[in-house]
Amino acid sequence: MHADNLSSYYENCIICPRRCGVDRSSGASGYCGMGAEPVVNLSMLHFGEEPVITGTRGSGTVFFEGCSLKCIFCQNYDISRGPTGCGKVYDADGLASLYLSLQDQGAHNINLVTAGHFIPHVAASVAKARAEGLSIPVAYNSGGYESVESLKMLDGLIDIYMPDMKFVSSSLSGKLCGARDYFEVCCKALDEMYRQTGPAVIDDNGLMKRGIIVRHLMLPGQLFDTKKVLDYLCGRYGNNIYISLMNQYTPFEYKYPDMKLPDFLQRKLPQGHYEAAAEYLALLDQTNAFVQGEDASGDELLPEFKS
Ligand code: SF4
Repeated sequence: MHADNLSSYYENCIICPRRCGVDRSSGASGYCGMGAEPVVNLSMLHFGEEPVITGTRGSGTVFFEGCSLKCIFCQNYDISRGPTGCGKVYDADGLASLYLSLQDQGAHNINLVTAGHFIPHVAASVAKARAEGLSIPVAYNSGGYESVESLKMLDGLIDIYMPDMKFVSSSLSGKLCGARDYFEVCCKALDEMYRQTGPAVIDDNGLMKRGIIVRHLMLPGQLFDTKKVLDYLCGRYGNNIYISLMNQYTPFEYKYPDMKLPDFLQRKLPQGHYEAAAEYLALLDQTNAFVQGEDASGDELLPEFKS
């Protein structure tokens, strides 16, 4: 894929499973809210990822604006709704330079967060950065709602996938992110990611070189659905992948009045539910797992986005 020829991917956009069909190259935007040029809100050495990603020097994280999923409880709400007006527009060459500068700062890896609506630019920029000396792993961090056809553009370019698997229930996913097909789409996306990376590989320094970490953020009152997610992941991939069970759900309505959370999401996880899910994961013999401390919730874990 050549960096000069990317705009055609954004005409009649079907980059993600929303398949809006809008012409982003002419300034229109679809469900993700973004035009045809990537907008980066923040890039930094980030120390809040799993230990195999963060290491000692941090993950070179690039936060893109917009999102094709837009969960109503989004923990990156500041930047997921669409352009904030505070981000910086990049072309593929500019992104490649950004990755190289994060490598120069000592990053263990490049970590592209919610870039699915810019996949053509991701592919071109990683290829360009590789040609110019990028040698650290590249991780693709996603809500899990991705089209297999678009993921194929990343084949051979992405070393580590970090998708969410948020729900099994179509009624939950319909209500919370307007995608009743979330689970089916996510299963196919994970299969494609696994086809590309194969089983997880950790190097001698305890850092991930290749593979998949699937994240699951537990939601209040949804322990049953969490167990279904864990059943699926352990049954299909077992210890060939890592599972990260996340305890940090925080109802941010106080911060974002337009969040409009349903009642069951206006609280933190009930006492004991996280521990019950962690025990369930252990019963499934999943040793490649990350579990968090007792209270990992709160906005101190979030980067300071520009908005
Ligand atoms: S990337 Fe954006 S415009 Fe394109 S199909 Fe997905 S949500 Fe729609």
